[in-house]
Amino acid sequence: MYQIAVLPGDGIGPEIIAQAVRILKSVGQKYHREFKFNEALVGGAACDATGHPLPGETLELCRNSDAVLLGAVGGPRWDKLPVHLRPEAGGLLSLRKELGLYVNLRPVKVFPALAEASPLKPEVVTGVDLLVVRELTGGLYFGKKYRESLPGGGIRAVDTLEYTTAEIERIARFAFEQAGRRRQKVTSVDKANILESSRHWREVVTAAGREYPEIELEHMYVDNCAMQLVKNPRQFDVLVTENLFGDILSDQASVLAGSLGMLPSASLGGSTGLYEPAHGSAPDLAGRQTANPIAAVLSGAMLLRYSLDLKDEADCIERAVARVLDLGARTADLAEEGKAPVNTIQMSDRIIEQIARES
Ligand code: NAD
Repeated sequence: MYQIAVLPGDGIGPEIIAQAVRILKSVGQKYHREFKFNEALVGGAACDATGHPLPGETLELCRNSDAVLLGAVGGPRWDKLPVHLRPEAGGLLSLRKELGLYVNLRPVKVFPALAEASPLKPEVVTGVDLLVVRELTGGLYFGKKYRESLPGGGIRAVDTLEYTTAEIERIARFAFEQAGRRRQKVTSVDKANILESSRHWREVVTAAGREYPEIELEHMYVDNCAMQLVKNPRQFDVLVTENLFGDILSDQASVLAGSLGMLPSASLGGSTGLYEPAHGSAPDLAGRQTANPIAAVLSGAMLLRYSLDLKDEADCIERAVARVLDLGARTADLAEEGKAPVNTIQMSDRIIEQIARES
């Protein structure tokens, strides 16, 4: 029996996670796997109920589970709270930190049926299948930060960007290992022409690369990478980069897939993996059952693959999603003008139908 902590969170979180859980149950039934889903509060919902966005019992449940499936957190209702009580900083970032998750994986795969849905030309995005490996616990987001008043008036605000050899080595190895299971190429992204931390990053990644002679390693400046991602995204297999660059580039890469509602993610490196859609809580869609559940569903597939080592079950979900898209089902974020979209539940119904139909 696999124990899965389920943290629906805020906004559309509960709607899409309910569907991801249905789909995990259906694939579990097909392959005779028993999943136990244990729900807990996180984010704004937890704040409202307990006064804290990451209650102790939620953290305890996550620590004692085989994997965590999370919807999304945040929304305008909680934006005015002090930082440590906000759903994102006090809830999600704390959870990642507490679980020791130092790597974020974001696969960006363009489903053939959706090549037309991207704002880029179909001939540019068709066949894109890349993986962004982002360092998640270092860099500017976690470095020393402060403000100081200047004698002549005004303020100096400081953030610090630092990386140790050990922090770079472990993420680099992670990227090389992933590339070994894919198309054997790593692109390490930095700004080594300007930043000292990037020069260090490049040296350490190069040294780690010598342990993986079968993997091709290239280095690319982040500004060039931003351009190449829209010009020729098919050139990439695994992109590895530091926290801030990874945050920006992975959102940019998400556009290739047609909608944020298509993109799953995994945060790994600790004892329990955390799986969540790449998008936020979309307060504009909440409560309407119109959100695209596929990012959450594919996050469930990643959970099976990375935390439970259930590759066939993960493949089955991914094939079912591809088939449903081939057959033309589209939620509102992907629907062509004049064509009626399916809602959140109907999209999941169709995925479940395909899972059941597979021999
Ligand atoms: P968002 O990702 O929630 O929404 C951006 C746009 O994408 C919106 O137009 C939304 O309607 C659309 N969208 C997102 N998910 C969709 C889906 N599944 N189907 C269809 N359309 C979808 O980002 P935002 O609007 O910048 O942030 C909203 C809230 O979410 C904020 O409070 C923010 O802090 C929070 N947030 C949370 C996470 C997280 O929990 N990991 C990540 C990003 C933002």
